[in-house]
Amino acid sequence: MSYESWFNDFADKHKVILDKLIKNNLSKDEIIDYFDFDNMVKEENDFCPLYKDNKKCHDIKELNCYLCACPNFRFNDAGIKTYNDKKILSECEINNGAKFAGDGVVHQDCSSCTVPHHKAYVRKNFDLDWKNVMTECNLNL
Ligand code: SF4
Repeated sequence: MSYESWFNDFADKHKVILDKLIKNNLSKDEIIDYFDFDNMVKEENDFCPLYKDNKKCHDIKELNCYLCACPNFRFNDAGIKTYNDKKILSECEINNGAKFAGDGVVHQDCSSCTVPHHKAYVRKNFDLDWKNVMTECNLNL
């Protein structure tokens, strides 16, 4: 699946949940709390493929899923730039995490970074529309 399809599908899934929570008059803090990993596994099991195994993407006690993927993630399915003859398809705007190389391409590896999963970060960057927070991510446009 391309980054762009994942991004658009995920935005749609996020919006369906948000529409429901807004209709139920949840406050900003209640919405953020709703996106806590434990609650999401219970209430929105299809939101993330890891939920069905009750598995966290990062081993932290309080994992919040509101800003998955991450506002600092940048991608372009055609390549952001090239480095040593490899096409860089994704990277981190603040140079966290790591990289991994595939067949002629390089991807951003966020597995060691928990930045977007902390509630304080979500509160600071909160917007009811996920796409507004992620506006810089998609360099395909
Ligand atoms: S490395 Fe961390 S801050 Fe950077 S894009 Fe990945 S999750 Fe976001």
